[in-house]
Amino acid sequence: MKINFKNKKAIVRVDFNVPLDKENRVTDDTRIKRAIPTLKFVLENGGSLILISHFGRPLKKRRDDGSIDVEKFTLRNVIPVLEDLIGVDVDFASDCIGEEAFLKAEKLGSGQILLLENTRFYSEETDGNEAFAEKLSMLGDVFVNDAFGAAHRAHASTSIIAKYFSVENKCLGLLMEQEIQSAEKILSETPHPFTAIIGGAKVSDKIQLLDTLIQKADNILIGGGMAYTFIRAMGGKIGDSLFEEEYVTLAIDLIKLAEAKGVKLLLPKDSVISDKFSESGNTQMVNSNEVPAEWLALDIGDIAVKEYSEVILQSKGILWNGPLGVFEMDKFSNGTYKIAQAIAQATEEGAYSLIGGGDSVAAVKKAGLDDKVSYISTGGGALLEYFEGKELPGIAAMK
Ligand code: AMP
Repeated sequence: MKINFKNKKAIVRVDFNVPLDKENRVTDDTRIKRAIPTLKFVLENGGSLILISHFGRPLKKRRDDGSIDVEKFTLRNVIPVLEDLIGVDVDFASDCIGEEAFLKAEKLGSGQILLLENTRFYSEETDGNEAFAEKLSMLGDVFVNDAFGAAHRAHASTSIIAKYFSVENKCLGLLMEQEIQSAEKILSETPHPFTAIIGGAKVSDKIQLLDTLIQKADNILIGGGMAYTFIRAMGGKIGDSLFEEEYVTLAIDLIKLAEAKGVKLLLPKDSVISDKFSESGNTQMVNSNEVPAEWLALDIGDIAVKEYSEVILQSKGILWNGPLGVFEMDKFSNGTYKIAQAIAQATEEGAYSLIGGGDSVAAVKKAGLDDKVSYISTGGGALLEYFEGKELPGIAAMK
């Protein structure tokens, strides 16, 4: 980070949008942990911190009577975890703008931390309102954007705020730099053979990504619900598996494009199917082309796991986004976990592996393999858009 933080009040846009349990306790502190190096850097260089973040969707997820669940959406919930991780007391302002925030920011001395309330209590945040962004900007001297997970949003605190700081007074944080470097390692310095494993529910969410990857990858392994639109497009019988009819032509085009580019695009040869979308149904393993009527394919099968693992183990670069089955249910989680294990093994043997997207990251963590892959991104949507070649508003605004 190029700013000299000595005696400066640094507004740092972090992504503290962490999950909570029913008692509003943080259940996964990864995003807070990943922000700590930037926060320590500012403090160790003589600055103070004014932290801003969004936290869930308080205005969209109102109670049935229309009121806002402040207890659930207040950033106060993260204070114990933050204090524990950084080892400094954290002061809090119960509004991200307004008198309290300004008075507390004014009095902030070097080495101190002030956390502001959830920016999404204001609709101006997601509207990208300029007056709101300008007010936020007036709380400090310099601006650091370290919220990669929110960088694909042109919101007031993620991108609009940056225009109220000169180039010398704003910069990306350490996490943001790390995220960009990791993505660029695959996008610009692509290690070959490069394999992309793309799963998840829908083709429609991943089309642009697949398009970009066909230009880069040697192998594309498709899994998850989206595989069955491809299989049906190729003439297979998929029963009641996930299917997006309007994407059939596109699926065929992608297969042809991969062929023309010499990219190996693999679909799961077999699948675990069930007669219910639940763990209580009957299950079988069948050829993915032969799913009986009224059955659903919910995981990749043993032959697919073996074939995909072999490709992964021969790779030097690996990108994984999206689970290969309905991994939330134990019965359909085998494919996802086996693929996570293959990625960990390939990494041990020298491959560079990048995992992005909430579900794939959750699977890697649940399998206890998070320290056995090269990089775990904090960005789901942001990482996807970065790979799709879109300029992320949160990064563009800092230039
Ligand atoms: P995405 O957000 O697109 O990465 O999708 C993640 C979701 O896809 C998870 O909740 C999975 O349960 C779901 N999913 C994965 N495989 C399947 C499948 N075969 N059928 C239905 N849903 C699936």
